[in-house]
Amino acid sequence: MTQKIIVTGGCGYIGSHTTVALQQAGFNVVIFDNLVNSSADVITGITQITGISPEFEQIDCTDLTAIRDAFSRHRDAAGVIHFAALKAVGESVSKPTEYYRNNLVSLLNVLDMMVAFNIPNIVFSSSATVYGDADNLPVREDTPLKPATSPYGQTKVIGESIIRDAVAAHPGLNSCLLRYFNPIGAHPSGLIGESPSGIPNNLLPYITQTAAGIRECLSVFGDDYDTPDGFCIRDYIDVNDLAAAHLSALRYMISHPTGTDVFNLGTGRGVSVMELIKTFEQATGQKLNYKITARRPGDIPAIWADPSRAERLLGWRARVPLSDTLLSAWRWQTKSMKK
Ligand code: NAD
Ligand code: UDP
Repeated sequence: MTQKIIVTGGCGYIGSHTTVALQQAGFNVVIFDNLVNSSADVITGITQITGISPEFEQIDCTDLTAIRDAFSRHRDAAGVIHFAALKAVGESVSKPTEYYRNNLVSLLNVLDMMVAFNIPNIVFSSSATVYGDADNLPVREDTPLKPATSPYGQTKVIGESIIRDAVAAHPGLNSCLLRYFNPIGAHPSGLIGESPSGIPNNLLPYITQTAAGIRECLSVFGDDYDTPDGFCIRDYIDVNDLAAAHLSALRYMISHPTGTDVFNLGTGRGVSVMELIKTFEQATGQKLNYKITARRPGDIPAIWADPSRAERLLGWRARVPLSDTLLSAWRWQTKSMKK
């Protein structure tokens, strides 16, 4: 029988790619999204790629009445993938209560409705931000967490705790907490991708917009870190690989109802800012205008994942080569400018 999955935040960057992966694997998807950081046009892209239009409920997950109604219509769901959240780290510092309210009330409502309607499985979008500036690299799931440095990060730390407590209290409930490293890239079709509003905070959208002439010059934040080439290191994971991991996590939970589990989702390889720039130039043939500037306050010098637990238990690992990911991001940038 076809299983239904509720995808909150399914019109967003990672949610849309995950909806594609779910539909291609034969799941029925219903998206709950209030479009606060996305557009319903994404549904058209998903439909063009998969040939299937996901069901869409335009609702705010913080609205208990609306979400209760929506869950009652979809009480047959086998699981929920909960992406819906606000995610701009800097904005969360200036609007902390908005971030806590949106991200935590949404999660509380989703959990209460899952319990009320006996929906057993939740996959939660957590982040490598919970590790802070870790003492040992690569980070494993049992690496001690550091205090979050922003209200956004704090919503992920608290969100993980809320889920653990809810699962402990409700034997029928299972969760996978997925700690994403740095998701980048777009669907190879160029039909869906990341659409940052305003000036991008993240490195790759800034790179593609600079190459496209929308931004004049990329500022590279610091070249004097204690890393092999002096630039910050991150673990950049292709968004399609990330989407596939959600599918693996769901299947794992459906076949092993084991309480709460946590997985790092990264490639296991640290890449410096300069290495990313050079790989982008090689992969796309675009020359990038950049300058070295001061360090960005609060930046962690280096972090990358040990993703071996996900490989061992979920049978998942990152597969897409970095140059293909950068090409997909560039294809999305150029295609979305023509719209
Ligand atoms: P995104 O902003 O593209 O997608 C989030 C979606 O949630 C948007 O479509 C938005 O409209 C929706 N949304 C937000 N609040 C809502 C609410 N109250 N009710 C209904 N819908 C709501 O972000 P993304 O990059 O796809 O991130 C998805 C998840 O992954 C988030 O939880 C984010 O914190 C987490 N995450 C993202 C990254 C990253 O770098 N992109 C890294 C780690 C974790
Ligand atoms: N970065 C940069 N210029 C930018 C944006 C980011 O040099 O305009 C660097 C940043 O210092 C960090 C890396 O790129 O070392 C990744 O930054 P991003 O904000 O994408 O991810 P995060 O720091 O949250 O992991």
